[in-house]
Amino acid sequence: MLENTNESVEIIWDKCLQYIKDNVDETAFATWFEPIIPQELKEETLYIIVPTQFFIEWIEANYISILRSALHKVIGQNVRLIYKITTKESNGNSQAKPQQLPSMLKESIKTQELDVPIQQKNPELKNPFVIPGIRNVKIESQLNSKYNFDYFLEGESNRLARSAGMAVAKNPGGTAFNPLLIYGGVGLGKTHLAHAIGIDIKEKHPEKIVLYISTELFVQQYQDAVRRNNRNDFIYFYQLIDVLIVDDIQFLSGKSGTQEVFFHIFNHLHQNGKQIILTSDKPPVEIQFIEQRLLSRFKWGLSAEILPPDYSTRVDIIKNILYRDSIEMPDTVVEYVAKNVKSNIREIEGAIISLVAQSSFNHKEITLDLAQDTIGKFVKNTKVEVSIDVILKVISDFYNLSIDNLCSKTRTRNIVQARQMAMYFAKQYTNLSLANIGSQIGKKDHATVLHALKTVENLLETDKEFKKQYETLDKNFS
Ligand code: ADP
Ligand code: MG
Repeated sequence: MLENTNESVEIIWDKCLQYIKDNVDETAFATWFEPIIPQELKEETLYIIVPTQFFIEWIEANYISILRSALHKVIGQNVRLIYKITTKESNGNSQAKPQQLPSMLKESIKTQELDVPIQQKNPELKNPFVIPGIRNVKIESQLNSKYNFDYFLEGESNRLARSAGMAVAKNPGGTAFNPLLIYGGVGLGKTHLAHAIGIDIKEKHPEKIVLYISTELFVQQYQDAVRRNNRNDFIYFYQLIDVLIVDDIQFLSGKSGTQEVFFHIFNHLHQNGKQIILTSDKPPVEIQFIEQRLLSRFKWGLSAEILPPDYSTRVDIIKNILYRDSIEMPDTVVEYVAKNVKSNIREIEGAIISLVAQSSFNHKEITLDLAQDTIGKFVKNTKVEVSIDVILKVISDFYNLSIDNLCSKTRTRNIVQARQMAMYFAKQYTNLSLANIGSQIGKKDHATVLHALKTVENLLETDKEFKKQYETLDKNFS
């Protein structure tokens, strides 16, 4: 015969837990059953206290049959179960009572209260809240181990973001950098750095639940959750995370439903000292169609910009790729690539890949010549800034002149004209000053370059053949 004292209810509940423990996975057990407090067992009615309304829904949806079997086995077939929700009021009243729901859940709960009885009289009632596909969630971090700090080279352009990331990794949620927002153009290393921080946190703090997610996937998951009517599960899931990394938040732009839900998740995590790491391709103020209140949240912590890498960082990055992938490449080629592929690191990687592909495909060694050829095409294809070297290469190929010849003091008419053409393209496609263009093309002064520009303009108007050549050449750059 069972006594209705608190001591016995605890023992009885403990027996139920033993049974449940054998039938659900560890994470689920820790998440959904350990927090439950058995309150009272009175006339075969078990009163249990759960932290939130959402617990009831989740248990009902996912674990009701296990729970029911446990109760039948331990208490008897006529058992009734009544859930109560804890109250956090510290007025000395330890009585559990239905709690004011967190505002984020209010709206969606309203409709569900009809379905989910707070006082579930008979556990055999049909479960009203079926959630396909998200049982026993095990949270995988979704981190790519290749994107670690060892492979993330430091340079002037990423120093702030990198060191802020390291500080966050040491003490997630415990620095002023919360959220840490990393922003910068495409291919500059935002995703890599975000993963690196996550990986480092997992190494230093294995107990923390880290999750990396792209904004696109987040939006998609949210839309699915809404469609399946389990928005609360979605929110609850994200509220379990200790370190949430959301990549490319500019894609929240215009998605007001997802922004709303993200806002709530953000607040919940932030208030609970959880770390949030965000990346964006623009500074927060420039992200359009993002709600003001969300924008101001992004500004709470630290916004660290990653800039395009400078020359020496580019050289380091290239050498690192070569070392990592065991590729041999003469220094002159490394320098050439570093000089010509400037806009971002993904393009540097692309240039090296195409160089290696070209060389193995044609059984050629990687030489400066091959690099000029390949990068010339690469630069054209990807609209990388056109450099003087590229222009000289294209012009010398076209007129069948050597670059040395083109840049010599020779005043032979056809060479002079090719040189002027090169100066004209340099003016058109680079941001270099006339003096700079002159110094790189035949060591001329700025007046000579100016004269060249005028001559080319005249010829374009008067000489059809010249104009045709110009148009053919221009296709290499535009
Ligand atoms: P983003 O997310 O800013 O568009 P990614 O993080 O995807 O850029 O980086 C593009 C590529 O450049 C990746 O392959 C990445 O490993 C590499 N990369 C970026 N920054 C660095 C760095 N500092 N050191 C080494 N590789 C880098
Ligand atoms: Mg990215």
